[in-house]
Amino acid sequence: MFDSLRSLLELVYPPQCINCNALGEDFCEVCKQEWIAPTRCISVSPIPMWSSAHYSRVATRIILLAKENNNLAARKVLAQAIAQSIEHISANAGARRLVLIPIPSSKKMNRKRGFTHGQSLAQEVGRHFNNRPVVLSALVHNRSVRDQSEIAMSARELNLHGAYSVNARKGAISPSDLVLLIDDLITSGSSVREAVRALKSANIFPEAAISACAVGAAFRLR
Ligand SMILES: [Zn+2]
Repeated sequence: MFDSLRSLLELVYPPQCINCNALGEDFCEVCKQEWIAPTRCISVSPIPMWSSAHYSRVATRIILLAKENNNLAARKVLAQAIAQSIEHISANAGARRLVLIPIPSSKKMNRKRGFTHGQSLAQEVGRHFNNRPVVLSALVHNRSVRDQSEIAMSARELNLHGAYSVNARKGAISPSDLVLLIDDLITSGSSVREAVRALKSANIFPEAAISACAVGAAFRLR
């Protein structure tokens, strides 16, 4: 019944590309070409950081739609890119349970948006796997911070230093879990460094950070 309802809805409201509004698909083949890229390691410190989409105007629009407008089609595009990297790095992970920890937005932004972008994104990533990963929203902001996009790269480290606390019950993670940080965009890498610092103090050791795309002076973009 749902399929026929969907077909009916598509007749009335045909799908449109989230970037260029072309009719036919949620994300058209032309715009996809500006987005799709091979999975690559963009940094190894403090943990390997992986990314798998091109940073471009298309990427900026997709991230904003998912983050600010709660747009499901845009979130699915981000999730697909993240899942691609996870599949790449976890090919030899065997039966290890995947635990996805989203990089958090500030409490102020969560309130303003009315939803938790990182958690929604990680849950959407989880739908790509038969063995559904655990989404653990273990990181929370413990003080107000400035929006990282509004300040210079050099000031971002200081802005975030000590800003995350860990909120996870004891035993939420087992030593055999493959723990990954999840984000939509890595710029200076300071959010990842702060996340690793905070989690380490709670004896949680993420093995890699996975973002849909990456940009910044710290990374060689290919
Ligand atoms: Zn398009």
